[in-house]
Amino acid sequence: MKIAVVGAGITGLVAGHEAAKAGAEVVVYEAAERAGGRLLTTELAGQPVDEGADAFLARVPWATELCQELGLGDELVSPAQRAAFVYSRGALRALPQPNVMGVPLDFDALAASGIVSSDGANRARQEPELAGSPLVGDESVGALMRRRLGDEVAERLVDPLVGGINASSIDDLSVQAAVPQLAEAASRGPSLVQELRRLAASSTVDPAAPVFFTLPDGLGRLTDGLGDRLGDRLRLSSPVAELGEIDADKVIVTLPADAARPLVAPVSARAAELMGKIDYASVVLVSLAFDASEVDHPMAGSGYLVPSVEGLSITACSWASSKWNHVGSADTVVLRVSAGRYGNDQVLALGDDALLEAVGADLTTTMGLNAEPQEVRISRWERSLPQFRPGHLGLVAEIEQSLAQDAPWLQVAGAWARGLGIPACIHQGRLAAQTSVAQGAVTR
Ligand SMILES: Cc1cc2nc3c(=O)[nH]c(=O)nc-3n(C[C@H](O)[C@H](O)[C@H](O)COP(=O)(O)OP(=O)(O)OC[C@H]3O[C@@H](n4cnc5c(N)ncnc54)[C@H](O)[C@@H]3O)c2cc1C
Repeated sequence: MKIAVVGAGITGLVAGHEAAKAGAEVVVYEAAERAGGRLLTTELAGQPVDEGADAFLARVPWATELCQELGLGDELVSPAQRAAFVYSRGALRALPQPNVMGVPLDFDALAASGIVSSDGANRARQEPELAGSPLVGDESVGALMRRRLGDEVAERLVDPLVGGINASSIDDLSVQAAVPQLAEAASRGPSLVQELRRLAASSTVDPAAPVFFTLPDGLGRLTDGLGDRLGDRLRLSSPVAELGEIDADKVIVTLPADAARPLVAPVSARAAELMGKIDYASVVLVSLAFDASEVDHPMAGSGYLVPSVEGLSITACSWASSKWNHVGSADTVVLRVSAGRYGNDQVLALGDDALLEAVGADLTTTMGLNAEPQEVRISRWERSLPQFRPGHLGLVAEIEQSLAQDAPWLQVAGAWARGLGIPACIHQGRLAAQTSVAQGAVTR
């Protein structure tokens, strides 16, 4: 059976690799001169540093398993520092522990953190006693959090974490699609916090086990490894404009929704119309290398998040050389600063100099940093992070049903569909390949 994969981001590379392993004749078409899509490693201060994604979740198996399969398992490293901070109410403050995606499980620790006011902490304390079901349909993360824990916890803890990962506001994000672990807890009993505590207490996961992994030479190693396995079955600089051009029994399209729509429209107008509802946020990642002697902040942790209510340009700063042993050196400090989120593209519209000025001003405000960087790299990721609105999973199911009816030889997968994290993309690529092979050839 011939299987064509369109797009060689992590989803498409995995789909091609998996289909080839299952014995299919495979071609992966990639528009760019390189594979990897949103995964890109380049040099900063003489070291490989990722421009986009720089780590993946260790507590779901798919990415770790893939690294092991590619012979990269022994290279995996986890952060040297775990403590994370929030810039809130004029200072960097440690995230209260324990928490689940910013939801505090210990209200005394929340009050002591100073991230919210004493009124905010007292409001959160009421959660276990509140009447009503914690979850109302597929509501937004913001609606759930504001109702159960109050605006301050929602805006100063959950939004920086959950909204930050998705470059979104929690008020626009589906609980079911963006944070299924919160949806599951909220649907189990009358109190979200009590159910999260119960799940934490019954968890068999060692709390000391790594939460994230990366590869010291950059996540480009992962996509390079897959590219090597595919060999000449991976066709770079080969944009696909029409699926009709492709000679294959089955096609798996792994492009962002914007790029996939014109390919899907001629074969399923309904699926293409529904895909038009997927919106994207743009973000910019500024990586900076400083002379260590000019940075007097202790940076005792992995970095910090900035709630949007603080009104700064930056949304997060990773203390990359503290977080990872392989980044930076005794002489060089490396920071990775994120800015931009859905509905706030002003920072993306800035030219390089104005952007660096805005970032520099925020680093001064948040961590008192006044040094001039020795090296800077600006990575603009336009329309790169899909937005999972309430109803997202229903929308994706409808898209899949339309395709199954109109074009059973075609599958779509990727960050916009069933999860944007690297493990979720790997899982989707693998499932799409396995389903294509298992179904066998159908008439095109
Ligand atoms: C700044 C940033 C930071 C992130 N950080 C993390 C993180 O730390 N951890 C994590 O788990 N996830 C992170 N993510 C998310 C994750 O990196 C992405 O969701 C994932 O890499 C997307 O993979 P994909 O294969 O679905 O899509 P893409 O990577 O977008 O791949 C799609 C590919 O299709 C190609 N293409 C487009 N049009 C055509 C065409 N017509 N014909 C052929 N090819 C085409 C593109 O060139 C591209 O290579 C981050 C994302 C961003 C933007």
